[in-house]
Amino acid sequence: MPRLAVLAAAAFTLSAAATRTEAQTFQENDLLLTRAERTDFRETTRYDEVMEIARLFAERSPDIHLTTFGYTMEGRALPLLVVGAPDASAAAVRATGKTRVYLQGDIHAGEVCGKEALLMLLRRYASGVYPAWADSVVLLVAPIYNADGNERIRLDNRPRQNGPIGGMGQRPNAQGLDLNRDHTKLDSPEAHAFVRLLNDYDPHVVVDLHTTNGTHHAYQLTYAPPLHPNTPVGIDRFLRVRWLPELTERIREKHGWEYYYYGNAQRTPDGGQGWYTFDHRPRFQNNYVGLRNRIGILSEAYAYLTFEDRVRATLWFVEEVVDFAAQNATRIRDITTTADRERVVGRDLATRADFLEGEQVTIRMGEVDRERNPFSGEVVLRRRDVSEPTRMTDFGAFRPTETATAPEAYYILPEAEEAIVRTEAHGITVVRYANARRVSAEQFVVDSTVVADGEFQGRRERTVWGRWEPVTLELPAGTAYVSVDQPLGRLAFTLLEPRSDDGFLAWGILDASVEKGSLPVLRVAAIRR
Ligand SMILES: [Zn+2]
Repeated sequence: MPRLAVLAAAAFTLSAAATRTEAQTFQENDLLLTRAERTDFRETTRYDEVMEIARLFAERSPDIHLTTFGYTMEGRALPLLVVGAPDASAAAVRATGKTRVYLQGDIHAGEVCGKEALLMLLRRYASGVYPAWADSVVLLVAPIYNADGNERIRLDNRPRQNGPIGGMGQRPNAQGLDLNRDHTKLDSPEAHAFVRLLNDYDPHVVVDLHTTNGTHHAYQLTYAPPLHPNTPVGIDRFLRVRWLPELTERIREKHGWEYYYYGNAQRTPDGGQGWYTFDHRPRFQNNYVGLRNRIGILSEAYAYLTFEDRVRATLWFVEEVVDFAAQNATRIRDITTTADRERVVGRDLATRADFLEGEQVTIRMGEVDRERNPFSGEVVLRRRDVSEPTRMTDFGAFRPTETATAPEAYYILPEAEEAIVRTEAHGITVVRYANARRVSAEQFVVDSTVVADGEFQGRRERTVWGRWEPVTLELPAGTAYVSVDQPLGRLAFTLLEPRSDDGFLAWGILDASVEKGSLPVLRVAAIRR
């Protein structure tokens, strides 16, 4: 266990606007600095240090409680710090009736600014910087989600990123899986832990903290709402019309920095320029959370800011997210409750999607300088302070390219045990039939199927073509009945509809049955009203 220095002064300068300086509050509370702060942002905090700081927070602050919510593949317990509830249990958190905000760092463990910012946020909380938050919100803070990846420090991970120059962790977990592609198939223990946390604590808001790759733009940080076209409209509107614009305005006023929607500048099909967001599929966390009727927010600090500035950008982002959540706590709960009550049965929902061509927008493009990591000699890039307004077409949202009518329910045959177990793991209500029964349903007749040549995330992705046809059959005992008329109906549809581009069939989870020529998923068509 490394020994942590207990310092009395802050290495991290605060905005002049802060009413109490951190230096004062440290002297009062004697709380710990992160490894990043102690090393002038040359290094990033290790797992054991995160655990030690977390224990000290919980020991020294009556408002902060520490628990764990699962394990990594290598058996590291995943810390969860709970703020604003009498204890760290899900029951106590839910019983507060407050708006629950989950903040996660380090899903990609080379993108470490979120982990550092969350530890600093907690210290600032314990120092009394945010006195009003606990009145209306409970914070659920998971600073080091990909803990195994965090410990695989190398100086050549994320080679062009501007630090930490003493090295950072790797993108995948110990299985070699990208945890931000695992939210539907659930092949990692970390993703299992995360969906269990969602089922138990049910956060209304989920914030996932990253660092960018790609375009040299001028924004200090970019963000994204859930991008799947099946996201409840109320969530999409609230984020795009109010929350994200207001947050952007406040950052500009308080700190003079520019935040905007995540994107990369790319050629459009007609030869113009477009600002393209990433992907609508729920394998990505923010999209997954949206399909669960909750408010997912992706944050991407700009990779070519210095490490210290990325931590600062992320800390400011998270502060504004929580401030807004605290000021709009009731409205947020209303929006998620309304989404839970919205019946999707009989509605045409997207099974596949593509970028929606939007309006012309002005994007602030940037430039970078090359410099060298003094310890490895390798080239890293640094953001230059220029901002070049550039007009381009917005591709920040998705439209359906194929839809299916959401059925009343699905049946999953017992031969597809892996699909049943995963459906249950997602928190979807599943009823298992104790006895065989004869039913009228629809079966998907496969015309053709294609399996991807290469592996992706340890699996070979599959596509099927075919059609639903009526059938009368005897369902064996052990068949799972999955109603779509439940709060997680949107998610059940995405996981079980055969043409879904991020469902169990697409991930090869139903391969054994498909190879035999039949699908183990049937459906009960919606009655058109
Ligand atoms: Zn990332």
